[in-house]
Amino acid sequence: MPENLFQSDSDSARIEINWAAPAAGHIFHSNFGPGLRQKANLTKDMLYSTFFIGGDFRRYSYSWKNQTIYLVTRGNWSSFTDQQVLDILKATIPAQMDFWKDRLDAPFSVSLLPTFEEWTDSSKSYSLGGSGLLNSFISFSSNNPGTELKMLRWLYNHELLHRWIGQTLVNEEEEKQYWFSEGFTDYYAYKLMLRNNQISLEDFLDVINKEVLAPHYQSPVRTLPNSELTQQKFWSDRQYNKLPYRRGLLYALLLDSQIKKKYHGKKSLDNLMKNLMAQAKKSGDFKFNHTVFQDQLDTYLGSAAITEFGRYILHGNLINFEESLPAGLLLETQKDIPAIIISPLANKKKLADLLGK
Ligand SMILES: [Zn+2]
Repeated sequence: MPENLFQSDSDSARIEINWAAPAAGHIFHSNFGPGLRQKANLTKDMLYSTFFIGGDFRRYSYSWKNQTIYLVTRGNWSSFTDQQVLDILKATIPAQMDFWKDRLDAPFSVSLLPTFEEWTDSSKSYSLGGSGLLNSFISFSSNNPGTELKMLRWLYNHELLHRWIGQTLVNEEEEKQYWFSEGFTDYYAYKLMLRNNQISLEDFLDVINKEVLAPHYQSPVRTLPNSELTQQKFWSDRQYNKLPYRRGLLYALLLDSQIKKKYHGKKSLDNLMKNLMAQAKKSGDFKFNHTVFQDQLDTYLGSAAITEFGRYILHGNLINFEESLPAGLLLETQKDIPAIIISPLANKKKLADLLGK
């Protein structure tokens, strides 16, 4: 990295990158698109948020609202087709752009790499992940039967959301705000999928119960105070790593339910999120921190919400959903592990609308 180009974080430099032509049958691609010659005005952070790949990739592109969207991938996928991955992008990008009332102002690129994990009778492992970058996101997935299309759909909803939560709303202290940048991102990934009929009400609750509530309540670090989540712990231990995703998602669900209840369905957590976004877009050096968030809490829910923020996020207490579940949902606790279930009397269509609203 040519770090010496930048005196400070706000410095930008005009950078020109030239690539040699790829070998026959190979392609080159970057977050700037397919061009071999790139000129861009970038800050250091933006330069760190670029990706460049070359080799035996397949490149797909389509046009959406006067911008080109690219997907580059390679290998023979066992669980899905390239077209199915493209279809996820075609559904997800417009849905999220519409939610944030945003638009693409440059080509957008997505890369998907297959990784090898053994999949035999005795050894079944898989993983998938990604990172939101400048006008792009990158992703990888095990190429074995463990990774299903629905996981990729979640991942793409999550990574694309980082364009706003993480990139526009930048954390002031990285892992100290992961409860927001990862937890709220995950909550919105599922909420928007529910709203856009990419998952069913049952899928939505299944995820909350099986992938969030159950593992969270069984985690040895479930009540770790937020201040003790260090970079070192986050990256070295799976339980610490998962903590802000689960805690943040549950807290987002709580706030969303509380705001909907207080405003009789006329407002939701969406309003608070969009307020933050407007604030970030208005000021050039916006950083997301706990003061900024508490101001929003005060606006929507008053001082009691700030006390709860201290209890549930800063101190790490387990969330009490008893009072705050939307009508139609019930809390059922078995062996100290709560699950959110649909009340037998509930109208499922109305409930799905309410949760996705
Ligand atoms: Zn993330």
